[in-house]
Amino acid sequence: MKITFPHMGFMHIPLKSLLQGLHREVVVPPPISERTLALGVKYAPEFACLPLKIGLGNYIEALEAGADTILMAGGWGPCRFGYYAQVQRDILRDLGYDFHMVILEAPDSRLSQLLHQLKQLGEKVSFMEAIEAIRFAWYKLAALEKAEEHYLYVLPRSSEKEEAERIWEDTLVHIDQAQSRKAIDGIVSSAIKAWNCLEQHSQPILRIGLVGEVYTVLEPYSNQHIIRSLGRLNAEVTNSIKLTEWLNDHLFKGHLLKSRQEHIVDCARPYLASRVGGHGLETVGTTVDFAHQGYDGVIQIGPLTCMPEIVAQSILLRVAKEEQIPCMTLYFDEHSANAGITTRLEAFTDMLRRRKAARVNGSSLQRGGSKSALLSGG
Ligand code: SF4
Repeated sequence: MKITFPHMGFMHIPLKSLLQGLHREVVVPPPISERTLALGVKYAPEFACLPLKIGLGNYIEALEAGADTILMAGGWGPCRFGYYAQVQRDILRDLGYDFHMVILEAPDSRLSQLLHQLKQLGEKVSFMEAIEAIRFAWYKLAALEKAEEHYLYVLPRSSEKEEAERIWEDTLVHIDQAQSRKAIDGIVSSAIKAWNCLEQHSQPILRIGLVGEVYTVLEPYSNQHIIRSLGRLNAEVTNSIKLTEWLNDHLFKGHLLKSRQEHIVDCARPYLASRVGGHGLETVGTTVDFAHQGYDGVIQIGPLTCMPEIVAQSILLRVAKEEQIPCMTLYFDEHSANAGITTRLEAFTDMLRRRKAARVNGSSLQRGGSKSALLSGG
């Protein structure tokens, strides 16, 4: 069995480690490129959301590279994700690919069910080996998130931005190759040391919260590298979605970490009291949470036609006004261009800087949650 999976940010690093720990041969799809997207766009239904198209392109490239088994997460709820795996499987079969698809369903609050599914994936693997594989993969993931946190802090403050970005890229490669916890710890501390040595500028820093659909938030290719672009504009981004938290809440049912889910639901309640699928409720709740923490602004991102994010966007109009936080919505599809996104980000950060300066100076612009506070569009 040569197993593959779709890309989503740096998820391939711990996932590869997990599957290798289960004694499986892994074919990581090539990094997402224009070809990946072109393949997905060519064979997926036009109205499908961007993650389905990119994922389909990932599978085709991985099958071309020798994979014979696809691992995909299942889902439910009032959006299309629950059908992704089936639709992609049928498209690939129609194209003549011969493969096996394994759909990992989120357990109904029974962790043992998920552990059983993971163990089933393994090749003659004992229960203890399976547990150790999960723990090592989790360790890699937590280390990646710790390094990313430093990167997101350093990038906007550094005057050597390219170097900060290079250290981050190298860290990803080295953690991928690491074979022990000690090696991982060493890589993370070297990266932090290198970032701390970079020269810093003294210009003001904006704090922006990033919310929205999980794939678009986590996969830089799908969001035109929005975090990097904002960092280059001296804006520190707090990513509202972390893979560890997402896995903890959705696959491990809160058994691994203290979940923030309840707090986010409480924040959302005055504006949205029920689930609308995907990350719609979390988008509203985390935006309110960012406003309470005094962030300068929030950017909501999602794939064009993403139903839960469209619902959330309509509610963010009220949130922006009542919580006094400027929000901007950006949708992405195969026609999104980097220049257009960069222009929008420049305009938004410029508006936030002027608003911040006006608030510091005590000007009447203090009530900046006015009509102009919410910009939206795709
Ligand atoms: S959450 Fe949005 S992008 Fe994801 S499957 Fe649902 S509609 Fe598509």
